[in-house]
Amino acid sequence: MALSGLDIYKLLPKTNCRECGFPACLAFAMQLARKAERIDKCPYLSKESKEVFEAQALPPIKLITLGEGEDKLEIGNESVIFRHEEKFHHPCGIGIIIQDSLSKEEIEQEIAKINSLRFERVGQKIQVNLIAVEAKAGAGRFIEAVKTVSQNTKIALALMNEDPEALKAALSILKGRRPLIYSANENNLKMMAGLAKDYGAVLAVSVKDLDSVVSLTTELNNLGCLDLVLEIKGKSITDRIWDLTQIRRLALKKNNRALGYPVLTVIEESDSFEEAQEAATYISKYAGNAKYS
Ligand code: SF4
Repeated sequence: MALSGLDIYKLLPKTNCRECGFPACLAFAMQLARKAERIDKCPYLSKESKEVFEAQALPPIKLITLGEGEDKLEIGNESVIFRHEEKFHHPCGIGIIIQDSLSKEEIEQEIAKINSLRFERVGQKIQVNLIAVEAKAGAGRFIEAVKTVSQNTKIALALMNEDPEALKAALSILKGRRPLIYSANENNLKMMAGLAKDYGAVLAVSVKDLDSVVSLTTELNNLGCLDLVLEIKGKSITDRIWDLTQIRRLALKKNNRALGYPVLTVIEESDSFEEAQEAATYISKYAGNAKYS
């Protein structure tokens, strides 16, 4: 939530020294509230006040980048509740899950299909934005699958595994590609935070309710892990939509930093029509990324 002129005034030194070019701190505060001036014109701010202004300058939903180069996926950095209020700066990314139980040839065929699925509609380039490798067949198969996928596509990648050794090996293969690690929870928080930091990866945080999101993201931030994507799991579609809406409202309207990250939904519906329907629902409200199995 933006600071009012009076809120800003309380953070200024109140000495009316005029060095900012205004006759009094209050006049400068009013211009700052209108966003007509820059805070760095006052050279006498306390450290605490500077921190408050710096936090205010951050977008309420953090910009998160996955992957690199032309095919990188940027999500977040949003400033309005309803996406139609502004241009879609960072539209929802679409991901496909590939299981490591497939053979090398099957994975290569899948990737070839995904790579070629690119088209233009009314000037907008549409493609798959994320490929997630899901662990199903043990560490060895997972690592081999990550290698095969990474050698055959430039699309951003996600690693769906919670085995630390398998993740370490996979992350070494993906050095410099800024993958998403899926996912941290109450039980593996420190280990996942360490891996994300060591390998420059983004970390997905999966929880069952809003209160847990706040405590987990706060703890991860304290561990120095700042690039996060949030997931609410194990709920009905209606309840998930409710939670996604609350996350967005609290981040944008109440400036709740612990919730100021893009959200991810994973869809594991067996019927392909219902799968697409569910994905469309989350894209409307308010997924930053939706992954299909
Ligand atoms: S420079 Fe800072 S302390 Fe001086 S008048 Fe402006 S706001 Fe107040």
